[in-house]
Amino acid sequence: MIDRYNRQINYLRVSVTDRCNLRCIYCMPKSTKKFLPQKEILSYEEILRIISLATKIGINKIRITGGEPLIRKDVVSFIERASKIREIKDIGLTTNGVLLKKYAKDLKSAGLKRLNISLDSLNRDKYETITGVDALKEVLEGIKEAERLGFDPIKINIVVMKGINDDEIVDFVKWSKKVPYQIRFIEFMPIGENSKWSRDLFMSREEIKKKIERISKLTSVKIDKSGPAEYFTVENSKGLIGFITPLTTHICQRCNRLRLTADGKLRPCLFSDREIDLKSLIRAGANDSLIREMLVNAVYLKPSGISQNAHPLKAMSMIGG
Ligand code: SAM
Ligand code: SF4
Repeated sequence: MIDRYNRQINYLRVSVTDRCNLRCIYCMPKSTKKFLPQKEILSYEEILRIISLATKIGINKIRITGGEPLIRKDVVSFIERASKIREIKDIGLTTNGVLLKKYAKDLKSAGLKRLNISLDSLNRDKYETITGVDALKEVLEGIKEAERLGFDPIKINIVVMKGINDDEIVDFVKWSKKVPYQIRFIEFMPIGENSKWSRDLFMSREEIKKKIERISKLTSVKIDKSGPAEYFTVENSKGLIGFITPLTTHICQRCNRLRLTADGKLRPCLFSDREIDLKSLIRAGANDSLIREMLVNAVYLKPSGISQNAHPLKAMSMIGG
């Protein structure tokens, strides 16, 4: 479906849980105490019904995310059922990778095509400082296993925070010489009431790029026109370097997505807390045409871009990053 600003909306991101086995300082710091009661989380049946109806308005691509999707019970069979919906051409997963080694094979068999893995440090102590858990080894093993099984592309997401992990930008670029992954630097976003975002921690694409260009030349390449990332090659590298810049460039013009939160709300824009409560409608017995109408409304409600100084309150883990 085309929205009011002539963007084609064909992508739905689904958060299947607000819980996580890590406590990243920028998303769900250790002080986070509030989690949804189980009954407030959509069941897999409810999510599958919404995905099926979303295909009727042109959604053909989905991403399963969270919280940490791999900690929800039976997520692999849910992914298998979702991948069998005929109109869904592409299904991806965003994970912190801690449980990836265990599940990678089953995920592949279930029909999962693409993997995004969050990895904010290559240093064991730093990884623990950022995520609260000493799990770097498990994540690296999970990534290797995914590569061995032929997942392609494998995208690595790094949230860059000044004074915390910006000293590793160059290490990630060096890593990209050896591994065939798309290594993407993400600007730290002010999302969630507990997130530790501040101007002082924020590092822009330009600053990140400058650091890289001190050691390597970046050459722009055009791949994945539908996504928000821009990509570059570095000489003699197996991998690619990418930037996701929600705060400093106009990626909203290319926005193609809706989000379904863990508590069953349809969210037209990541940066706005405006939502449509699908869960209440479904649980009150709404028929398919009403739900479909709400999906159309969500597309209609998509704003043209981020409003100045937006700082949505809902955590990224509930919205589905
Ligand atoms: N737990 C999974 C993971 O970490 O990959 C999936 C959910 S997580 C919320 C999805 C993505 O959102 C991760 O890549 C994470 O780094 C990113 N994210 C969370 N909070 C963020 C923030 N404040 N700014 C930028 N990216 C953020
Ligand atoms: Fe968990 Fe992902 Fe949020 Fe980190 S970014 S706390 S791994 S949901």
